[in-house]
Amino acid sequence: MRLWLNARGKSEKMELPPKMLLEVTSRCNYRCPFCYCVWHESAELGGRDLGTAAWKGILEECASRGVREFQFSGGEATLRRDIWDLLAHARRLLPQGQVSLFTNGSRMTEERLLWCRDQRIGLATSLQGLRSHAAQTGTRRSCQRTLAFIARAAEASWPVAVSITISRGNREEASDLFAAAVLAGAGDIQMEAVMVEGRMRRHPEDALSREEWEAVKAEVSRLPSGGVPFGFGDELLCECRVQPESLRRAFGNPAAKPCPAGKDFGVIGPNGKYRRCLHTVEALDWR
Ligand code: SF4
Repeated sequence: MRLWLNARGKSEKMELPPKMLLEVTSRCNYRCPFCYCVWHESAELGGRDLGTAAWKGILEECASRGVREFQFSGGEATLRRDIWDLLAHARRLLPQGQVSLFTNGSRMTEERLLWCRDQRIGLATSLQGLRSHAAQTGTRRSCQRTLAFIARAAEASWPVAVSITISRGNREEASDLFAAAVLAGAGDIQMEAVMVEGRMRRHPEDALSREEWEAVKAEVSRLPSGGVPFGFGDELLCECRVQPESLRRAFGNPAAKPCPAGKDFGVIGPNGKYRRCLHTVEALDWR
């Protein structure tokens, strides 16, 4: 247990942020070249999944220490057979709080989609590419399954939030990706420049420059959004961690606002350790 001293010199556990991102597995059935998961840089942060009881204990402790929002992700969270049990447990612990699942959508079924709606489990997914979908996911799949998932969720009145990451591999499709997400029925759209984190550390040359990213934003901003709310993620490099000078020069943002990581949200990784940001490798013993 890690104890901290409060202002009166008494020891207490560290304060947790109100939102917790839960990386419940490091396994994934996709191999996206842009994947920013930290275990692509530090393998010890991935490893074997914790069991059901261990994750339920983590959820209970988070809820008892003031966490009011859980977002489940991975890796691909639905590769865990117990993910539905864990989501239901989170919902019981936070009957009025937000519980959501970030999934690549490859294993979502009609039954699971409707269950999520009934349990008020928010859904989010990535639309990695259209013509480039196979290359952007490291699979042989087309984008049809992802688009069908988004469309079916919209029909079921439980729309999915869609994240679109732009690198050199799908730059030419940026406008088409946005239009496809709108037409499929996305609940909202977040477009992001690929970050030079995780797997991208091995091929930073595939990331857009800041000028190229600004051109993508200008192009997409001119498109009709059909009333779908959308936003842009401008971070090309995590500002929370100490970065190599060469990356900072190429991708850093001197005008970056202070990051809310560690204050508004934190992360519990597959090993059950707490990190203050998705991209930081320093893990804290928080219990
Ligand atoms: S980005 Fe998501 S879907 Fe792609 S490899 Fe990483 S965890 Fe899997």
